[in-house]
Amino acid sequence: MNKMADSICIIGGGPAGCCMALLLAQQGWPSLVIEAGNWSAVHSEKYERTLALSQSSWNVLAEIGIVPQDLNAQAIRSIHVSQRGMPGQVLLSAEDVGKKVFGYTVSYQALLTALRNKIQSESLITVQSHRRVLSIEGSHTAARISYQSPSSGRHSILSALSIVADGGAQIDDPRALNWSYGTEALSCQITSLGAKAGLAWERFTPEGPIALLPSAQGLALIWTGSSARIQDLCSLSDQAFLSALQDWFGDRAGCFVNASPRVRYPLKSRFSLRPAHHRVIRIANAAQTLHPVAGQGFNLGLRDVVQLRDCLGVAHAQDPGHPSLLNLFSSERRADRWLTGGLTHLLAQGFTLPIPGVRSLGSFALSAMDITPSLRDRFSQLMSDGLAV
Ligand SMILES: Cc1cc2nc3c(=O)[nH]c(=O)nc-3n(C[C@H](O)[C@H](O)[C@H](O)COP(=O)(O)OP(=O)(O)OC[C@H]3O[C@@H](n4cnc5c(N)ncnc54)[C@H](O)[C@@H]3O)c2cc1C
Repeated sequence: MNKMADSICIIGGGPAGCCMALLLAQQGWPSLVIEAGNWSAVHSEKYERTLALSQSSWNVLAEIGIVPQDLNAQAIRSIHVSQRGMPGQVLLSAEDVGKKVFGYTVSYQALLTALRNKIQSESLITVQSHRRVLSIEGSHTAARISYQSPSSGRHSILSALSIVADGGAQIDDPRALNWSYGTEALSCQITSLGAKAGLAWERFTPEGPIALLPSAQGLALIWTGSSARIQDLCSLSDQAFLSALQDWFGDRAGCFVNASPRVRYPLKSRFSLRPAHHRVIRIANAAQTLHPVAGQGFNLGLRDVVQLRDCLGVAHAQDPGHPSLLNLFSSERRADRWLTGGLTHLLAQGFTLPIPGVRSLGSFALSAMDITPSLRDRFSQLMSDGLAV
């Protein structure tokens, strides 16, 4: 076993883990990133999704040296929200809140590649890939990380602070609330004739929300529904799929003429009740995995990253895993995590609950927002900056 008493270990080299390591390096903190997968190959199906990132998130990425223009990111200038089969709709515009854009969409793959490239040239960051962390045991003095390497078997190391950024799927968190929506998301790229540049669409249906976001390939689709429905949609020919989408969505986003291969994601949410304890801090999806309806998962995760960077920035002691730092991190993150998680859960469930009056209430909310500029502006502000501000 290696002893690394003042070390920081980051488990997971996804977008959150990479941003964490890069921001810490800027403050002079060395770190070890342990990644289960292949560091240089980010071309699998699971990296196909498009992420909508708020302007605040792009401001953080700019600190790392990543700007939308380098990644062919597409601006979101307005968002149209509606409900299928019900009156009430609203058009949110970034201009209404004095901004040029709400944010930009970017492919997960392009973002991850850019972040990992930055890490390659950072001397304070050590990467060990093809190492799957099996367990972490925290204590007052150190966190023990056990991992498996395909070439040399099982190992463990000690760290002063373990930052878990494994996406929430792998390392057990006994203090997490788990929720399965019993639904899935289908994601693919759509070519549409007549789609307006910079306009995103969010449509609530009794089966679940559908979003169309501007993307480098045209429009990025996220269609949620029951597992059976999503399975059916995936088994259709491209032509039949496009016509099902056109039928369900209407022609407001143009005429759909082409679809890329469809990828399915099971929808679960997970919320850690104690993200920081005994020298282990969970961030981003490892701390909370959200339904993608509001496109807030990574935006919220990045705010965890920034808060932890700030906490470590004021860490007077040499010990990055000191309990006072963990307590500060937990208390600073509490309100944003609960509010964003709660609101996302409400949106994911609200419009689909088979309770009389719920859909009418949604319809009323959209109409009220449409005719009440202050309400609309407040919501637009949230879309741009998140709940933290
Ligand atoms: C369909 C869909 C659409 C989405 N749209 C948006 C959006 O528009 N906006 C938004 O903000 N968010 C969105 N999200 C959420 C966003 O993708 C996540 O919040 C983000 O990817 C979380 O990043 P992460 O680094 O925490 O986790 P991940 O991206 O899951 O990365 C985790 C990393 O850890 C590694 N790892 C896992 N287990 C281990 C282990 N045991 N040992 C070592 N390494 C390990 C993995 O290989 C991976 O590299 C969407 C999600 C989905 C599913």
